[in-house]
Amino acid sequence: MSFDPASFPRGARHRAALELGFTQIPVLLVRGANPGKLLVVSANVHGDEYEGVRAIHETVAELEPAAMSGDLIAVPVANPPAFWNGTRTSPLDGANLARVFPGSPDGTPSEQIAWHLGHSVIAHADFYADLHSGGVKWRMPSMAGYDASDPRSKAGALAFGAPVVWGHPEVAPGRTVSFAKSRGIPFLYTEARGAGRIAADDLQMMKRGIRNLLRHLSILGGDLEQVPLELHLFGEGNVERGINSPARGFLMNAVDMFDRVSKGQLLGRLVDLFGETIVELRSPCDGIIGLRREFPVVEEGEPLFLIADETRG
Ligand SMILES: [Zn+2]
Repeated sequence: MSFDPASFPRGARHRAALELGFTQIPVLLVRGANPGKLLVVSANVHGDEYEGVRAIHETVAELEPAAMSGDLIAVPVANPPAFWNGTRTSPLDGANLARVFPGSPDGTPSEQIAWHLGHSVIAHADFYADLHSGGVKWRMPSMAGYDASDPRSKAGALAFGAPVVWGHPEVAPGRTVSFAKSRGIPFLYTEARGAGRIAADDLQMMKRGIRNLLRHLSILGGDLEQVPLELHLFGEGNVERGINSPARGFLMNAVDMFDRVSKGQLLGRLVDLFGETIVELRSPCDGIIGLRREFPVVEEGEPLFLIADETRG
């Protein structure tokens, strides 16, 4: 099955569905009255992240195709099995959809979703934005992340209008964005507070961001809606700077998001059901807390903290 946006009439909103047998992926298409670039936006690759779902639904309803030169393809729920299950991973195969790209047309359910999202949707993009958040278990900055090796990616992230931007020197494999990169498509991804909720300012950030990207690509006219950049982070791409849980336990955090920490500083304690310390978690380096585990019951191997660097931009 393929999806060809050019087969839909200009100057109108359309809907389509990628039929995979075990599920159906919703695709919203806003075709501008005039030709131009094509922005692809997706949300809910992880089934417990909801800010982008609502931002897409509201933005698609508000756009006026007659005023657009170019197109928006938006996938509000990229992972319907995980969405209906309320979980980050898929109940069908236990997979994290953001680790199985480029997928396979006849693989596991998540591999099939990845393959069709990549080849039928993302492949059409001149720019791609994947809307994530902290989900139920983590807190992330309200931010836009970019590929530091691609100036087009950085320019898009700065145009998006998030209070925090985060540059990455490497793009790990298996992601939606690594598929985009493999096709030479510039991208950004977002994060937000998450917690299974939709904070009003995060919703505004994502709606503003989609519109700003449409302006950045000249699909919409008008000036970017700018917000002050509060923090510009840079990640070394070094897994040593992330702290994964060495055991199952109950996490007692000792630091907050954006705290500046030094090497050896106590970040939190993992305790057993009697409250006895299993392990003290200490920072492996100096930096800024860029991810914090919020849901306190943790399994061995789950990410607890990520330490970022601040950059001069
Ligand atoms: Zn996510």
